[in-house]
Amino acid sequence: MAMELQAPKGTKDMLPEDAYKWQYVESTFREVAKTYGIREIRTPVFEYTELFLRGVGDTTDIVQKEMYTFNDKGNRSVTLKPEGTAPAVRAFIENRLFNEAQPTKLYYITPAFRYENVQKGRLRQFHQCGLEMFGSKEPSMDVEVIKVAMDTLNKLGLKSLSLHINNLGCPTCRAKYNDALKAFLKENYDTLCETCKTRFEKNPMRILDCKEKKCKEITKNAPIILDYVCEECETHFNKVKEYLDVLEIPYEIDPGIVRGLDYYTKTIFEIINADFTVCGGGRYDKLIEELGGPDMPAVGFGMGEERLIMTLDNENIEIPKENLFDLYIGARGDEERKVAFKLASDLRVLGVKCEINHMGRSVKAEMKYANKLGASFTTILGEDELNNKKINLKRMSDGEIFEVSLDNCEEIAKTVK
Ligand code: ATP
Ligand code: MG
Repeated sequence: MAMELQAPKGTKDMLPEDAYKWQYVESTFREVAKTYGIREIRTPVFEYTELFLRGVGDTTDIVQKEMYTFNDKGNRSVTLKPEGTAPAVRAFIENRLFNEAQPTKLYYITPAFRYENVQKGRLRQFHQCGLEMFGSKEPSMDVEVIKVAMDTLNKLGLKSLSLHINNLGCPTCRAKYNDALKAFLKENYDTLCETCKTRFEKNPMRILDCKEKKCKEITKNAPIILDYVCEECETHFNKVKEYLDVLEIPYEIDPGIVRGLDYYTKTIFEIINADFTVCGGGRYDKLIEELGGPDMPAVGFGMGEERLIMTLDNENIEIPKENLFDLYIGARGDEERKVAFKLASDLRVLGVKCEINHMGRSVKAEMKYANKLGASFTTILGEDELNNKKINLKRMSDGEIFEVSLDNCEEIAKTVK
């Protein structure tokens, strides 16, 4: 055999045996989104690099270290999408969705690519369920976004969730805060990591999100943004808290979260289960305008599917698994094999999940295989069955036999489904 090929580092195959988990998470998210009138958007897997430079921010981990950027054959710089928000905003502007009645409620399920240090829950290709609500500046919208995430996680069966919120203010209060933060960080400037040194002038708040130990140590007692927000931002945050109370959603105010993206304003939040952030999001009222659209507010979140599925596994939450086959149809000879082939085909049209022998197995081996597949019913076609036009459907759970007419597909379907 030639040398075995491997999937690139930090990527994972989703195997058929796990597919049901992914489908369950995604269909739960879709169902919840529907109850809020949120519609799906799909954007390309790659974009012109400029979108992320402008949209994610050049002081973020994503832009500084993590992007899969390359020149295509036409020498244009393109980047595999590292997140879903900037592309959704680009599409919103390009397709002039801002001309329609607002708000615009969009969701997406997408792969995302980041060149990261690979570890548990940190991959280079991962997947996100995300949503964006454009056009509303109301605090009720912030809380609606949070509730969509909560509804999804609760519906999936996750119980021990904690909601952390913070207020990042607007550019006006941010400027005041940045001055205070810089004054505080100044004496330790030389100790900061190289990346944070570049953040110091451009966007000092990002230093609070650094994962380096020495930076974390320095920022431990840093001033907090909540003490610097302007009246408007404070009022907004208070209303958010009131709306959370209306829905009886407990929360913790956490001045330590600043989120990994530059574009956030006002409310940001994380939903944490054990030590994992499974969902992160917030308001970004300046991004649409920054990317060339109208001055329009927005709020959204991204939920990591891998981390979500890992959490479900860790908590031993049972994910409903369908049987693979309702009926296995065995056959004794060539003629019977043709009848089985036709019967399976007709039954599938009626929605019955069935299987026949494609491996030239003996009848005995067929039944062993049917058992292994977990088929709910089995039947064997022989000369008698063909002559009498009657077949026996055997229920595998208890061995009970149901005699039905071979020509009556409806009856067979009703029995095995
Ligand atoms: P972190 O602080 O863990 O790096 P982040 O702030 O970069 O997270 P976001 O950009 O907000 O994360 O992405 C939203 C969600 O996507 C995260 O909460 C997480 O569940 C998931 N996620 C982010 N990066 C990865 C990754 N490399 N592998 C798997 N899941 C990820
Ligand atoms: Mg990150």
